[in-house]
Amino acid sequence: DDRIARISSTIRIIPDFPKPGIMFQDITTMLLDPVAFKDTIDLFVERYKNKDISVVAGIVTIRGVHQTAQTAKPPAPHRTTPYNAIWNICGVEARGFIFGPPIALRIGAKFVPMRKPNRLPGAVISEEYSLEYGTDIMEMHVGAVQAGERTLVVDDLIATGGTLVAAINLLERVGAEIVECACVIELPDLKGRDRLGDKPLFVLISSN
Ligand code: IMP
Repeated sequence: DDRIARISSTIRIIPDFPKPGIMFQDITTMLLDPVAFKDTIDLFVERYKNKDISVVAGIVTIRGVHQTAQTAKPPAPHRTTPYNAIWNICGVEARGFIFGPPIALRIGAKFVPMRKPNRLPGAVISEEYSLEYGTDIMEMHVGAVQAGERTLVVDDLIATGGTLVAAINLLERVGAEIVECACVIELPDLKGRDRLGDKPLFVLISSN
């Protein structure tokens, strides 16, 4: 697809950011090129619109079972979307918030932010995960995703895969069905894809 080369050419590499030895893939330069940005979103939308996958069994009966906190809002009214559609786009802070919402709007899914600790105002569930040095926490609002909902996880880049694994764990704890993870860029040398186990990963650009 000709669009991939153009998108790739707009991504800037900044050596030694945020620390020596890291070649940082900077997608903000892609956002300055409206054609490349639109092509990126279009490529994801083409893949995920009308995604005709097998029916999700038991969705109505198990809906809401995993909601724990008393402060959770009642589940959203049952969607009329067919069971085989993607219902949620989960964007990982912060650059997942750039790509997730336009995809969600175009395919008619809801967007769910997955955030760093203490940013979300409502009741949350949290998942701790390890980074190169130390640990971090990812949070999601209770009630944002219902059990059985077909969910796409979006981020700008997969490196070691730790961030996406944390997102998957959090979503599976509330019973979501992970359809796929989608990233603009993969750093294949870091083998993050292997850590996702049986969860499919779709990327536009592989960068060595
Ligand atoms: P992982 O958890 O090691 O896969 O790292 C992926 C996370 O770190 C994503 O949320 C990325 O936004 C961020 N990240 C790591 N390396 C880069 C980079 O070179 N450019 C942009 N983001 C990066």
